[in-house]
Amino acid sequence: MKSGEIRSSLFATADEIGLPDGVAVQLADIFGGDIDFHRDLRKGDRFTVIYETLHHQGRPLRSGRILAAEFVNDGRALRAIWFGEDAGSGSYYAPDGKSLRKAFLRSPLEFSRVTSGFKMRFHPLLKTWRAHKGVDYGAPTGTRVRATGDAVVESAGWINGYGNVVTLRHGGGITTLYAHLSRIGDGIRRGARVGQGDVIGYVGATGWATGPHLHYEFRVGNQHRNPLTIVFPSADPVPAARMAAFRAATEPLVAQLDRLQGTAVALLE
Ligand SMILES: [Zn+2]
Repeated sequence: MKSGEIRSSLFATADEIGLPDGVAVQLADIFGGDIDFHRDLRKGDRFTVIYETLHHQGRPLRSGRILAAEFVNDGRALRAIWFGEDAGSGSYYAPDGKSLRKAFLRSPLEFSRVTSGFKMRFHPLLKTWRAHKGVDYGAPTGTRVRATGDAVVESAGWINGYGNVVTLRHGGGITTLYAHLSRIGDGIRRGARVGQGDVIGYVGATGWATGPHLHYEFRVGNQHRNPLTIVFPSADPVPAARMAAFRAATEPLVAQLDRLQGTAVALLE
């Protein structure tokens, strides 16, 4: 169990409190439908996390899965509790049973120690997403780019200006576009199926780009939408028939989060 407060970056805090990198990345993944960890983190954000540590002959070997976590981002508290049918399959839910999984990830970039410190770079000519119809993520060349939702590849290849670019077709007339890639991912070609979070390419500076960054567009029909503010639907909640089991399994974890939150606040004051 660990609690921390963000002062500069999630990894700086992880180092301060001795949180393994793997747990920090899981934290970013679990809340990745609600929080863009590349852009949304604020100084003063807080988190509490309860995670497994695997032991061998009495010594901690490595960290395992996060069992429960709370993240307070810009004053908004989100909680996630792991709940599964068995050890292998499961998902993260809010304490009321709503799924944390969204139809789209907030950020198409893999979150890592390297990308977390990279500052956003504005487009040199068109500074707003509205004029520029996309969002730019500064990141080192080679950073993994993920499909933000389940999709079929609509196109993968070179387009002038965009450089190496992948376009994905999702349900509901939604398409997403990922441009300036140094390389398109293996097996990413027209007609291929990809799942949310699958790697579709790598950050680069091909086409009209002044430095390595990902240019990301989100369209509904033919209309560009701002992926930073659009509200995404959630996956299915815990089924009504499983709510009793869910409550029984998660109540001790929720109580633990409550206690840890109290401790963290006391420490800060
Ligand atoms: Zn751009």
